[in-house]
Amino acid sequence: MTRVVLSIGSNVGDRLARLQSVVDGLGGAVRAVSPVYETAAWGGVEQGPFLNAVLIADDADLDCHGWLRCGQALEQAADRIRGQRWGPRTLDVDIITCHDGDEEILSATAELTLPHPYAHLRAFVLTPWLAADPEATLTVAGTMRPVSLWLEELDPAERASIRLTDLALRTEIAAD
Ligand code: ADP
Ligand code: MG
Repeated sequence: MTRVVLSIGSNVGDRLARLQSVVDGLGGAVRAVSPVYETAAWGGVEQGPFLNAVLIADDADLDCHGWLRCGQALEQAADRIRGQRWGPRTLDVDIITCHDGDEEILSATAELTLPHPYAHLRAFVLTPWLAADPEATLTVAGTMRPVSLWLEELDPAERASIRLTDLALRTEIAAD
């Protein structure tokens, strides 16, 4: 059984519908859904603001590469065209962490880097993640800390760069 933390974002078209397509696409695998936040774009490219959220999902059969392919299939279904790096996108699905049972899966290839190398630097990842899982931890360069602590260590300007919206993703999370 693997469990992933997914960061999802959209800044083109019907942004909320794009995020909802991930929740719907994952169906019964979804275990937790964060509120939806709005974030100014990152990386210096002039573009509209993102809607961002974090999902937690698990699956009995997928390994971490399977989750990557799953995320990419959802991006393609949302008409994602790979263009400019850090540029506008209909849908971005990033894998933040992947656990197999109690074991955290680490990966250091360009195809799949786990944990996600920028997760601890981004308020739009840490804040929704903490909302979805208040107990979450993240290991950076061998140091495991609560996500709440990584968030506290962010530059205040980065922490203030996201805004909680009153938008919500619809989900039917089944009780175990
Ligand atoms: P970014 O998310 O960095 O803005 P892209 O979504 O275009 O950029 O992803 C570029 C590549 O990043 C993908 O081809 C994918 O194989 C790779 N990648 C590496 N690690 C991860 C990860 N943890 N989650 C998602 N994609 C990843
Ligand atoms: Mg991505």
